[in-house]
Amino acid sequence: MRDLLKLPKAHLHVHLESTIRRDTLRDFGAANGVTVPDDVAAFGGFAAFFARNDLVRACLRRPGDFRRMAYEFCQDEAEQGTRYAEASFTAAAHGERLGDLDMPLTAVREGLAAGREAFGIEVRLLLDHSRRRPVERARRTVELAGRHEDVVAVGLAGDESFPGDPFAEVFAAARDAGLHVVHHAGEGEGPASIRQAIGPGGTERLGHGIRVLDDPDLVAEVRERRIPLEVCPSSNVALGFAPSLAAHPLPRLRDAGLLVTLNTDIPALIGTPLAREYARVRDAFGYDDAVLAGLARAGVDASFAPGATKERLHREITAWLASP
Ligand SMILES: [Zn+2]
Repeated sequence: MRDLLKLPKAHLHVHLESTIRRDTLRDFGAANGVTVPDDVAAFGGFAAFFARNDLVRACLRRPGDFRRMAYEFCQDEAEQGTRYAEASFTAAAHGERLGDLDMPLTAVREGLAAGREAFGIEVRLLLDHSRRRPVERARRTVELAGRHEDVVAVGLAGDESFPGDPFAEVFAAARDAGLHVVHHAGEGEGPASIRQAIGPGGTERLGHGIRVLDDPDLVAEVRERRIPLEVCPSSNVALGFAPSLAAHPLPRLRDAGLLVTLNTDIPALIGTPLAREYARVRDAFGYDDAVLAGLARAGVDASFAPGATKERLHREITAWLASP
């Protein structure tokens, strides 16, 4: 069993706002007049998730908060062996809330640039938009993405019981502008949400997508179209979308011939950074190093990284697998 911290990984589904260290969140809270409870690490279920998101939003106010969040993300990910990441960030929501649409994204990009310099990790951004929020904000999100380098994609997140169709036009415009599109689907809702995302929604990957298994025809379509899934087992268990890790559909998704990548979604909330996520599925499903390297390779292939980055990462994975 090789050291999974050293396995070079691409991390494609991770929300920056859910990566903040506990001490850092306390510092932000103290500076911004927000009380961060001592039991902030205790976490369970969807209600706690929404409460925690509210708390994080209240704590993130100053440009320095966003910069530090992004910089520490780079440090923490580099320690996990993440070599390349596409991190989700709800930039427009923060910008509207704070009265300066571009400030949070500008500050995050500064933090990522410093983090890249210090830790050698390449991070690009996916600007997500909550389905519960207005179409107009989605449009502003796409415009924001177009104004900033380092943003590779936009997409829908949030409660999947809110329909994706009202946003189809906005994301079609995003694709026309050269942005990639990645939606969350098939996490809380079933095949209909996935059909919307891969049809009118125009998604290139499925954020989660685990409920594709509810419909064999849909499995065949997703497989034939080679649409990758961003699977986040520990998050699914923590939020109640899978009964346990042992019962998680990850092995069935792989057996169905789907392109499965492994991700954390909300690592700080559930205490499962990326290398630990790999270790947990190794232990739960008995995967050997070749399978784990295959999951890492799938992440590289499904990413929007430049070709040279992908080639380098594949070489590094090959070297890891050849190491004693
Ligand atoms: Zn997510």
